[in-house]
Amino acid sequence: MIPGARLILLGRQGAGKGTQCVRLSRHYVVPHISTGDMLRAAVREGTELGVLAKQVMDAGGLVGDDIMIGIVRERLSRPDAVGRGYILDGFPRTVGQAEALDLITTQLPIDAVLDLDVPRDLVLQRISSRRVCRDCGTNYVADGHDKQPWICEVCGGDVTQRDDDTPEAVNRRLDLYEEQTSPLIAYYQRQDRLIVVDGVASPDVVFARLVEAVDGAKRG
Ligand code: ADP
Repeated sequence: MIPGARLILLGRQGAGKGTQCVRLSRHYVVPHISTGDMLRAAVREGTELGVLAKQVMDAGGLVGDDIMIGIVRERLSRPDAVGRGYILDGFPRTVGQAEALDLITTQLPIDAVLDLDVPRDLVLQRISSRRVCRDCGTNYVADGHDKQPWICEVCGGDVTQRDDDTPEAVNRRLDLYEEQTSPLIAYYQRQDRLIVVDGVASPDVVFARLVEAVDGAKRG
């Protein structure tokens, strides 16, 4: 395996994208650039961007293209990304962002645009049954026969459902994805650059599929 790769990972929320991005970034020794993480950091730091992003994120909307494009352009110009590459997670999210990214990456083009494909029904089911320890963040899967109250096996904290993991909230985010982000799939398909990877399997199997797809794309 040759380290370095410039990758985009698309996919519905709850498709396991975050975990796979972390694994891919270790495997190819490239930074994992998550726009969601960058915005959450700005919110924590209380910067001007953070204040704006918090309003938008709480309302379940998308931060404006110009702002997002500026943030990503700056991040991709740093030495680690220029030298080794990156895995982009959460960007692009609109066709406008994808067009801008094409311009930003003309000198050093993206090696592979991957779509981690998990059907909407399955994602909804997975997220709706997700429970999280409020103290240590350990994830659990509820099966309808769980003891109440639910105590975390790792730290003894309370295990609850995240506020934004209710079926209503998840459906809202999935609608937004369908509206704004799924046109990206068509955009990259038209350019003949999209690699669809079946995301319905164990995390290890899905990771192996992703690596095979990336290695194939890097070989040309
Ligand atoms: P999710 O938790 O929905 O998978 P992320 O963690 O990637 O999403 O992002 C959280 C929020 O940050 C999004 O709901 C959106 O408001 C904002 N955001 C992240 N990336 C972008 C982007 N590329 N364009 C616009 N808004 C974004």
